Amino acid sequence: MAPERSVASLGLSAEHVDVDYRSADRVVAGLRDVSVAFQAGRLTVLSGPSGSGKSSLLRVLGLLDVPTRGRIVLDGIDSTRLGARQRRLLRASRIAYVHQQPVSNLLEDLRAGQHIAFGRHVARGTPVDTRRALAEYGLEHVHDSHVTDLSGGEQQRLAFALAAAREPAVILADEPTAQLDRHNARDLIAVLRQLVGNDVTAVIASHDPEVVAAADVVVHLRDGEISDAPH
Ligand code: ADP
Ligand code: MG
Repeated sequence: MAPERSVASLGLSAEHVDVDYRSADRVVAGLRDVSVAFQAGRLTVLSGPSGSGKSSLLRVLGLLDVPTRGRIVLDGIDSTRLGARQRRLLRASRIAYVHQQPVSNLLEDLRAGQHIAFGRHVARGTPVDTRRALAEYGLEHVHDSHVTDLSGGEQQRLAFALAAAREPAVILADEPTAQLDRHNARDLIAVLRQLVGNDVTAVIASHDPEVVAAADVVVHLRDGEISDAPH
């Protein structure tokens, strides 16, 4: 299915986004005139070879970086018009960003089950049965374990369980299967499919063919631009 490119008032979109990386002597184009809208309840995969701009797009969508030109619009709010503090608040309340390195998404002092309780606390949501919440991610058996006692696959599934406990509007993840073996990667893909069940806008950067195959929508990037055909 082709990506939606219309401007939607609800949801997440990039409009004519450029990202330039400037150093002393040159400018590298990370993204060039990227316009794309992402829909809730769909798993969108940003695909493309290394250096094609996947992480650059994910970072501006996650309000971690501000585009050089263009706009990132989240639920009708033009984030590029906000100050740094407001942008941080918008990000904290609506967006969960899952980094590639599993352990960097987690809190070392907390046991697995406590991550779920923490996520609910941050979201100011009603408490949930943490054991049952973990069971949805195949993690019931590690409820009382510390992060450092989990495998990489378990850590990454816990990162998504924590993200979901925060009930964000948007979940973004950069190459979430890159550090995992095939077996764990497949379990993680099942987790990604599960996430989009509850009207979350999920955008995953990945060149893992199995992740691409699990997508509802694939956005192909090439040299910082959206390309219609896979490369
Ligand atoms: P991908 O995630 O698809 O590998 P990136 O978004 O990381 O692609 O990179 C897109 C382009 O931007 C590449 O040419 C890369 O070298 C460049 N780039 C990314 N981050 C930086 C940075 N911090 N400084 C300079 N150039 C960067
Ligand atoms: Mg990348």
